[in-house]
Amino acid sequence: MSEKILATENLTVSFGGFTALNQLNFSMDVGELRVVIGPNGAGKTTFLDVITGKVRPTSGHVAFKGNRNLRKLSEHQIARLGIGRKFQTPRVYLNLTPRENLQLSCDRPKAVFASLFGTASQASQRTVAGLLETIGLDKKADKAAHLLSHGEKQWLEIGMLVAQSPDLLLVDEPVAGLTDEETELTGKLLLNLAESHSIVVIEHDMEFVRQIASQVTVLHQGTVLCEGTMDEIQTDPRVIEVYLGE
Ligand code: ADP
Repeated sequence: MSEKILATENLTVSFGGFTALNQLNFSMDVGELRVVIGPNGAGKTTFLDVITGKVRPTSGHVAFKGNRNLRKLSEHQIARLGIGRKFQTPRVYLNLTPRENLQLSCDRPKAVFASLFGTASQASQRTVAGLLETIGLDKKADKAAHLLSHGEKQWLEIGMLVAQSPDLLLVDEPVAGLTDEETELTGKLLLNLAESHSIVVIEHDMEFVRQIASQVTVLHQGTVLCEGTMDEIQTDPRVIEVYLGE
């Protein structure tokens, strides 16, 4: 049996009387890139919130790398186990350069001093140089981040997550508000990262989903409606009904 990076078992989250996740069973293999789609209110954000410890399950379990004991851990502790989350709005230090932002993410607190006083280790300098190339910002490495486009800030933040060497990357709507060209480049970046990372992407843009996804999970009313390739799910009558009924 292949190794699971993430699995949920009858995962339920209720807010008062409202059930946002309902007995959700989801699993993905190490090294997989999975796209999760679903109409508004399907539970996609709650799904990420519960994986990262921001929201606690009402019942059921989340297992990360086979470890089911996440319930008692703080958000910070769960992140340190190796889960990196990219929110919709980029959270980069606008007054620092892309190189400095990446340097800080590479090896926090030591790197704060190292990058500010120009003493970053050769190893982290090499990592940062490689990441700058991966995210396509090598030519803008030393300009202030506030000069970057929205897309470039998104890539920088993805790079900052990767700098922390997570085992699982959770990426929430990475192409919202991007140009067509930026969207395509974001797809290439995620496909490139997927060669060495397990990634969950939440996305609305179906063209983009088609570009990056081999396996898609459709959430509806807090549970898995169906899973399959983009061709399979696009012709599934249940999916058509859910989306047309939105
Ligand atoms: P999606 O990301 O798929 O649009 P969400 O996970 O944001 O869906 O929300 C699922 C449902 O749970 C929605 O109906 C939303 O209103 C509800 N919900 C989410 N968070 C809370 C909360 N903190 N309190 C009450 N209801 C919530």
